[in-house]
Amino acid sequence: MNSTHMHPLPAQLDVLIIGAGISGVGAACHLQQQCPDKRFALVEAQAGFGGTWRTHRYPGTRSDSDLFTFGYRFKPWRGNPIATAEQILKYMDEVIDEHHLSQRIHYSHRVLSARWSSPEASWHVEIQHTPAEGDPVICQVRCNFLWMCQGYYRHAEGYTPEWPGMSDFAGRIVHPQQWPQDMDLTGRRVVVIGSGATAATLVPSLAGTCQHVTMLQRSPTWFATGRNANELADTLRALDIPHEWTHEIVRRKVLHDQAHIQQRCVQEPDAVAAELLAGVREALGPEHAHLADVHFKPSYRPWQQRLAFVPNGDLFKAVRNDQASVVTGQIDRFVPEGIRLSNGDIVPADVIVTATGFNLNVLGDIAFQVDDQPLDFARSVTWRGAMFTGLPNLVWVFGYFRASWTLRTDLLGDFVCKLLQHMDSQGKRSVMPQLRPEDQGMSLAPWVRPDNFNPGYLARSMHQLPRQGDRAPWVHLQDYRKEKDDLPVAPLDDGSLIFN
Ligand SMILES: Cc1cc2nc3c(=O)[nH]c(=O)nc-3n(C[C@H](O)[C@H](O)[C@H](O)COP(=O)(O)OP(=O)(O)OC[C@H]3O[C@@H](n4cnc5c(N)ncnc54)[C@H](O)[C@@H]3O)c2cc1C
Repeated sequence: MNSTHMHPLPAQLDVLIIGAGISGVGAACHLQQQCPDKRFALVEAQAGFGGTWRTHRYPGTRSDSDLFTFGYRFKPWRGNPIATAEQILKYMDEVIDEHHLSQRIHYSHRVLSARWSSPEASWHVEIQHTPAEGDPVICQVRCNFLWMCQGYYRHAEGYTPEWPGMSDFAGRIVHPQQWPQDMDLTGRRVVVIGSGATAATLVPSLAGTCQHVTMLQRSPTWFATGRNANELADTLRALDIPHEWTHEIVRRKVLHDQAHIQQRCVQEPDAVAAELLAGVREALGPEHAHLADVHFKPSYRPWQQRLAFVPNGDLFKAVRNDQASVVTGQIDRFVPEGIRLSNGDIVPADVIVTATGFNLNVLGDIAFQVDDQPLDFARSVTWRGAMFTGLPNLVWVFGYFRASWTLRTDLLGDFVCKLLQHMDSQGKRSVMPQLRPEDQGMSLAPWVRPDNFNPGYLARSMHQLPRQGDRAPWVHLQDYRKEKDDLPVAPLDDGSLIFN
């Protein structure tokens, strides 16, 4: 596996990519292919690549979207649509090998600060290298452009709310993001707090390995269920169609089907809800089907939060086999023997798993300065959800929620390369979005509109994120179908980008 390095980090670069998750590795591939003359490196705080898929090591960690679209457009996916963390890491390992990137990636290198100097048109980046042995060392890198692929949440620690009585609980409390590798749940009663994709993955994985597992949720989530297979992919593979073709055709089919479902969620949410519930009822089986209306029927419309896919209905099968159960209720407090709900019921537990989400991290927790002024990121306005007023020569890869994140990694890969080529052709060294006279006073909205998408970690931290405007190019679309057409032809000379 590509996880060690023996090569020094160059002190002078054209582009520095920060983060070796799916976004950073994709960025490196695009840059190398489309701008072969650029001197670049990729720095990663952790001791290996993978980001999300390296950090999350709880039992059963898997994707919730299909790998035909979560995979890169340039690297065919050959497995089942929903993939385990191991499969995704193996895929990324192959990409790093095939693109000869291992010499470019510097692991255990955490960026601490970045200081922009306008006269030099350079970022001065301070990086802490923590070698496997010996003390950490600080290195300095000067670069012209920062490609931010640091994701959106803090990898070191997940989000656990403070509940009364937590210290009274006699058992162990674990966050899935820091899953202890020595965890033995044999004979234990486990309660998983949460109802998102993480809880839906953990519960069936733990069922059968412990005495009983309970999913304790405040409110239900919409789940889609079906076989972990793609019929079209299976057919094309059986016909020996080249993998590249199969990948592209299945991607188009997946996107087409998703667009159809999303449209239906808006136009006929009740019909979609009824179909999702029918799928859940069937997976629960006749004896447990009544639980669908109690625990799997949310009050919001489908797709307002990421619609989690339960491959092969495994969550519902665990309930059907009585290895798992679901409780919907408000937590009053932790008690020595488990969790007391506001209706007085006690949910008994030996181990409590808090699948309660993330802590947002803003720009990789890096201290940014622009010409000696500390950056107030929350005051920025975004340019197409990629660049920011007041922040020169920087792009942040923030993917899609409703479609696979990586679709945007590829789109922004093309965009950044085009932008860099444009700057070179014009003899320019810096680019920064700036509101034009006609944009002054436009109404501003949060980074992600809450009526559009509202998971807890965003709601908690939206005030730290930049805002968007009410017109192009100041809108953060979060819409792959529109952006795939808009971004490649986005004008660079409409006055919203200042080049120097
Ligand atoms: C369990 C789980 C399942 C998911 N499943 C899906 C899915 O199926 N489909 C989907 O579209 N999305 C999914 N997501 C969302 C997922 O996080 C993104 O899709 C995607 O993996 C993010 O990739 P990234 O490379 O942008 O960021 P990350 O994976 O977060 O990687 C960022 C990297 O940057 C590094 N970094 C951060 N700050 C610094 C710094 N200061 N210096 C150096 N390095 C730094 C981090 O260590 C990390 O390795 C899932 C998320 C989780 C947690």
